[in-house]
Amino acid sequence: MKGGANQMQKIQMKTPLVEMDGDEMTRIIWKWIKEILLEPFVDLKTEYYDLGLVNRDATDDQVTVDSAEATLKYGVAVKCATITPNAQRVTEYNLKKMWKSPNGTIRAVLDGTVFRAPILVKGVTPYVPTWKAPIVLARHAYGDIYKATDMKVGKGKAEIVFTDENGKETRQLIHDFKGDGVIMGMHNTDESIRSFAISCFEYALDTKMPLWFATKDTISKVYDHRFKDIFQEIYDAEYKEKFEKAGIYYLYTLIDDAVARVIRSEGGMIWACKNYDGDVMSDMVATAYGSLAMMTSVLVSPKGVYEYEAAHGTVTRHYYKHVAGEETSTNSVATIFAWTGALKKRGELDGTPELTKFAEKLEKATLTTIENGEMTKDMIPLFTGERKVALSTKDFLTAIRRTLDTL
Ligand code: NAP
Ligand code: MG
Repeated sequence: MKGGANQMQKIQMKTPLVEMDGDEMTRIIWKWIKEILLEPFVDLKTEYYDLGLVNRDATDDQVTVDSAEATLKYGVAVKCATITPNAQRVTEYNLKKMWKSPNGTIRAVLDGTVFRAPILVKGVTPYVPTWKAPIVLARHAYGDIYKATDMKVGKGKAEIVFTDENGKETRQLIHDFKGDGVIMGMHNTDESIRSFAISCFEYALDTKMPLWFATKDTISKVYDHRFKDIFQEIYDAEYKEKFEKAGIYYLYTLIDDAVARVIRSEGGMIWACKNYDGDVMSDMVATAYGSLAMMTSVLVSPKGVYEYEAAHGTVTRHYYKHVAGEETSTNSVATIFAWTGALKKRGELDGTPELTKFAEKLEKATLTTIENGEMTKDMIPLFTGERKVALSTKDFLTAIRRTLDTL
């Protein structure tokens, strides 16, 4: 075979990647990506952690914590999608208990911010026609309404009370209720906001993309304003010069103004959002770019470590078909890009440019395969090219391999 992978010297790795295996259809894809696209070319060095639900249950979820700690040790992880158990999963897998979301557990160890970026291919036009470059969404993943306490109340007075460490109380009226209503108390910490800001500034420098940040500080004059101030302080003290040197900028604006600007923009920026804004806007941005199956995600920790994954879940419906022996057409692009993202970063940190170059080549082979009209079923209605063929899950990977062998 020409360019035969077998005859080539495999690319060597210095430091292992932390490999976090997962569940269902993405677990199947995971194995095939390694066999078809990675192992023939790279002498793959990984420290393997099986985060599949069966093993999480068997290890009382210790494996998840161990994998996060290994990430702190080695610096780069690649993660397969995993099931977050609910009541139905507890029955389906006969679980000892309803284990927490692995992503939540990993984030608790690593801290940091999740950056989600769409993968653009020629022939798939975003729903917003002006968007020419990816918009990377950075969601603050701590606090606000996600760690709030709320209650239904009746007639009476609702107050917010803070007791400092010396026992001194500060009270403020929330509302004097004349009838039934609801109240909520939420918080964030300067420390978490600071690490969010640092992750965003670092990621902007890393990718040479400008950074936008927005809150509702005109209405939320203390709470949201704190976010604005912390970002500005850190920017002025530590990043202003670096940004100027890199030819990028930091823009703060109101969240409603940001939404309007994003829609009119050409893309190509990182959009940092508070927790709720990020939750909502990431789904809007992902959908507008075409497909959740074409969205990557990386957790950037202020401790200087990275965890790459696909933004979608384990694609359960397809997995049940696969188990029933039916053919599936599941899109593996985001999972491939999780691997290439991790390999590129490993190559960069280890000073092994051949590894980085291989990962870039694999990305190119993946996109070229789609641009040449070979794709999974989900892409067919989005693709505007003339020739388009829907391939099975495995045939799509084989098609990428064919393209890769020609590059
Ligand atoms: P999902 O796995 O993302 O799938 C939802 C639907 O989106 C699929 O049924 C499929 O639509 C489409 N889809 C998603 N990824 C696709 C791909 N790669 N190729 C083709 N189509 C794709 O979300 P879910 O069904 O809500 O969750 C399933 C499991 O994943 C849950 O147990 C959840 O806990 C877990 N999950 C994990 C993560 C993570 O590990 N980061 C994230 C989200 C969810 P059609 O059925 O119409 O083809
Ligand atoms: Mg959401």
